[in-house]
Amino acid sequence: MIIATTTEEVRHYVREWKENGLTIGFVPTMGYLHEGHASLIRNAAEENDKVIVSIYVNPMQFGPSEDLDSYPRDPERDQTICERNGTHLIFFPKVKELYPSGFSSFVEVDGPSDGLCGSTRPGHFRGVCTVITKFFNIVQPDNAYFGKKDAQQLAVIRKMTKDLCFQVNIVGCPIVREPDGLALSSRNKYLNPTERKAALCLSKGLNEGLRLIENGVRKAEIIKSAIHARIEQEPLARVDYVEVVDPDNINSIGNIEGAILCAVAVYIGNTRLIDNFTWEEA
Ligand code: AMP
Repeated sequence: MIIATTTEEVRHYVREWKENGLTIGFVPTMGYLHEGHASLIRNAAEENDKVIVSIYVNPMQFGPSEDLDSYPRDPERDQTICERNGTHLIFFPKVKELYPSGFSSFVEVDGPSDGLCGSTRPGHFRGVCTVITKFFNIVQPDNAYFGKKDAQQLAVIRKMTKDLCFQVNIVGCPIVREPDGLALSSRNKYLNPTERKAALCLSKGLNEGLRLIENGVRKAEIIKSAIHARIEQEPLARVDYVEVVDPDNINSIGNIEGAILCAVAVYIGNTRLIDNFTWEEA
């Protein structure tokens, strides 16, 4: 497995692989990898000749009072996970490699970036889209793999790819969960044992919402209130949002018909966690 830290090195291998007619699958991550990331890497390895994983805690997508400095890091363990799951090259750039002094170009995707995490994390998707644009230009992947755990991010990236004519196929991969239902996240590391138990209120609340929809409830307000109430039964939880939206454009939905995304963001103590489900009338 190749470890590259500069754009130039990555371009060297990409050129060589393309010249040999090989396809490239790309998995962008912020590291501290878990089974959710590993599942993306395995999908990429199954569907492409070469797999590139980027590990980069992108400062541009963090707000001033967010957890950039404390974000968990374990590069050695990440390398092992990458290697075991079929990675050919890890791109481990330093901050300055992607944002040298004087950097002043940004990518913004209006529409799906508004609402949900876009409202409570201003500038977050601008940071995501700018760094993913850079990665797409450096890696030139045939396929890029994103988790449905970050459903709004997936919608934003799909829109950006279409609007800006990137020649890359965006693949959305299922949410990987702990056996008890908690969605895997690098940020779960912040939770102490009591908070870890409390964090189950996200998946329990969402399950409650899904049960109502499957029983025929179609008013989004009723679903949202039920999820809210279920989450707030947990004393350590503070709801950031509970929303029912269109999964493509992230517009709010009043009456459930066709496909929906039901998404939540919840603080457990100081840790902000997100989770969601998508549902479509059979
Ligand atoms: P991150 O390192 O948190 O930026 O995540 C990198 C990629 O892994 C993103 O596309 C995430 O959606 C995806 N991912 C994170 N957690 C999970 C999970 N539990 N299941 C599936 N994909 C995930």
